[in-house]
Amino acid sequence: MAGLYLHVPYCRKACTYCDFHFSTQLTTLPAMVEAMQTETRLRLLEATPMATWYWGGGTPSVLPAASIAALIDTFKRHAPLQPDGEFTLEANPEDLTAERLATWRELGVNRLSVGVQTFVDARLTWMNRAHTGKQAQEGIARAQDAGFENITLDLIYGLPGTSLGEWQDNVGQALELGTPHLSTYALTVEEKTALHHAIQSGKTASPDDARATEDFLWLRQHLRSQGWEPYEISNASLPGWRAKHNSAYWAGEAYVGIGPGAHSFDGKAERRWNVSNNARYLQAWSEEVGSDWAASSDAFEFENLSATDRLNERIMTSLRRSEGLARQDVGGHAAILDQQWANYVQKGWMEHLPDSWRLTDEGLLWMDRIALDGFANPENLPS
Ligand code: SF4
Repeated sequence: MAGLYLHVPYCRKACTYCDFHFSTQLTTLPAMVEAMQTETRLRLLEATPMATWYWGGGTPSVLPAASIAALIDTFKRHAPLQPDGEFTLEANPEDLTAERLATWRELGVNRLSVGVQTFVDARLTWMNRAHTGKQAQEGIARAQDAGFENITLDLIYGLPGTSLGEWQDNVGQALELGTPHLSTYALTVEEKTALHHAIQSGKTASPDDARATEDFLWLRQHLRSQGWEPYEISNASLPGWRAKHNSAYWAGEAYVGIGPGAHSFDGKAERRWNVSNNARYLQAWSEEVGSDWAASSDAFEFENLSATDRLNERIMTSLRRSEGLARQDVGGHAAILDQQWANYVQKGWMEHLPDSWRLTDEGLLWMDRIALDGFANPENLPS
């Protein structure tokens, strides 16, 4: 099995732009830890070795040390991490205290994903983040002092009212910290978020597409000039520091997701997703569910992907990556892609190599449209 994902559905504050599944009511946290242990025990009856553990959310760094230790104890028995395995914990800067960092190291965490977003305090306030830029810088330095080398930082670009200069300054500050991996995202406005309401009521401006485009194109070119590899649409690293867990997702490998809202994939055709509701998840996994839990509970839903779905997913996930889509991965559909994508090659949005197709930086801006144009449908899928 490639990896285990744990979704920790709690945050101390709600960021204005966020539509992930989380609650700011931490009172159910102890029961949630027990429920996640139960889910792990009942779904992974036999010890299933994992190449990676990834704890995301929400904010896993809100978990008390005893809860982390209890979850690790269960995972070690049912989903043991291989000896050279990657164990990532998502953490917010305000949680990077010397004491917590030492505990995480002792418990085996070997990679941190830190939600910096920006170093500009006025923007952090606008996003309702719980930290300052200085706290992020100091927290990351403490993490490095505690022995963490493998650290990735999240940054957001395309914020309304920002300039290319502000983005360049943010990226410069991130690179100066000496961490080997960056995840960068354009600000998007999701329905039902505080940001969406603020824009609808005219209280704040919408993100500017032109701003995001310029920030994105500059970033990729700049990172290459600094010896970095932008290896995926949102991810870049120094050579040798790619994220193993997410790379396995994009390669279509199997993973198990534990916790409310977590997704799982068997590496072949079955995809399932846990209920994105803390109360319903707790109810499903806190009672004595017995051996027929899968049939009786509403803990999750699932679907079986058709051959067409799997091919289309392969097209989508491959175009995200710098390696692109290998001809051998699409079989007879390659001839259709040759036709469908010829126009994009001509525009300079795509490179057509002997064995693969790869999006250029410009082409990544049009990735969804290009993928959609290449999608198979039951009529044109080769047998
Ligand atoms: S962005 Fe992260 S910290 Fe903020 S609400 Fe979403 S999950 Fe929580």
